[in-house]
Amino acid sequence: MAGSLGLWKQILDEIKDQVDPQTFSTWFDKTKEFSFVDNTLTVKAPTKFFADWLDQHYKSFIEEIAYNLTAENITVDFIGSASEAPSNYSFSKKPLLDSSRDNGLNPRYTFERFVVGENNHFAISAAQAVADKPGKIYNPLFIYGGVGLGKTHLMQAVGNYLIQNKINKRVLYTSTEDFTNEMISAIQANTTINFRKKFRTYDILMIDDIQFLAGKEGSQEEFFHTFNTLYNAKKQIILTSDRPPKEIKKLQDRLISRFEWGLLADIKRPNYETRVAILRQKCDEENITLKPEVLEFIAENFDDNIRQLEGSLIKILAFSSYKKVKPHQIEMTDVKQILDDLMANRKRPVTLDIIQEEVAKYFEIGKNQIKDPTRKKEIAFPRQIAMYLSAKLIPHISLLEIANHYNKKDHTTIIHAKKIISQKLDTDNNLKRKINEITENIIQ
Ligand code: ADP
Ligand code: MG
Repeated sequence: MAGSLGLWKQILDEIKDQVDPQTFSTWFDKTKEFSFVDNTLTVKAPTKFFADWLDQHYKSFIEEIAYNLTAENITVDFIGSASEAPSNYSFSKKPLLDSSRDNGLNPRYTFERFVVGENNHFAISAAQAVADKPGKIYNPLFIYGGVGLGKTHLMQAVGNYLIQNKINKRVLYTSTEDFTNEMISAIQANTTINFRKKFRTYDILMIDDIQFLAGKEGSQEEFFHTFNTLYNAKKQIILTSDRPPKEIKKLQDRLISRFEWGLLADIKRPNYETRVAILRQKCDEENITLKPEVLEFIAENFDDNIRQLEGSLIKILAFSSYKKVKPHQIEMTDVKQILDDLMANRKRPVTLDIIQEEVAKYFEIGKNQIKDPTRKKEIAFPRQIAMYLSAKLIPHISLLEIANHYNKKDHTTIIHAKKIISQKLDTDNNLKRKINEITENIIQ
């Protein structure tokens, strides 16, 4: 095991190698080791906001580095400043995994903190109904949508609501990854019976990012039985995913159909007004004021997801704390500079290669497979989409260039692909959504 003094320093050296310098200077430069006792490393960040952010976004990444350095399971905790360490702060060893916070919930993820817009209106109504009468109305509740749009927040709001209101229910939130890992450990340790018992004792079981069950046969089998037991006992199940059940490939049909038994609720990207409202709410929560034009600028420039909005706010706050300027005194010229790299990163140039890669990834086929000269629908259809998108998204590209890229002798194939896809788009909303998602992935 590495010497306890300076473990954080060693971790920082590793982080430096793995993140870009801008990220490092924003997030890690001002952190310090506070204590390292019983395999718990406590790191001090400049403010509580910082500490929460690090906890949410870097904890597992850092714990993995710690593990690689020490070959021990180290828990990394972040605190805002020394004085903020809770008075009953104990340095005893914290158990790992979901037991560190018994129910796995982040207390910040509540309904009160969730801003309602037309993009999530349906999903939040469903979640509130479930919180009100768990197990009774929508079971399972299946929330789906793109990255950073509030799925985890909303799902956990149900659990936090029950706890806040002291409704006597056993609640567990877990990621699909932890569920799977715990199952594998149970198999290795010959304790699958306990594993099953444990998961079947909850009144409300929330499993996040269930799309990661894809292709994991054993976990699907186990989850199928857990699902049935809970469902039959009228216990509430809440799931999230980045796509609707039918579109999760390599997922057993019986699971897909069960996921559709209850209610499917999607969360879309927030519109401008909702983005501004979310930014205002985050400022209120942190008790800070920014000039209205600053909030508007962020809302105009970051429209993909809410994590980006939070990221922008945090960068501005970091600037404010380093430069000792009050948040409300920060000028637009500063803001443009502070957010410059975030905005630049977002817009990578779109190339034939990126489109080929993103389309192949979306349809779960090999990047080069998409170029195979086959008429098989699983390959030919994604290829047509890739051709269509290349013509649409790359400024000034000629059809012949696209044809060359896909080893076609002339541009007629491309014209054909464009025509087929455009025609389908007129009537097929599902395809429209898919193409929008792929486009988002391409443009980032
Ligand atoms: P997902 O699970 O869909 O990837 P998260 O639930 O992790 O997204 O949300 C990303 C961040 O955005 C979280 O910090 C969350 O609190 C915040 N967030 C998402 N939606 C909202 C909302 N409607 N109102 C306020 N904050 C939100
Ligand atoms: Mg999530």
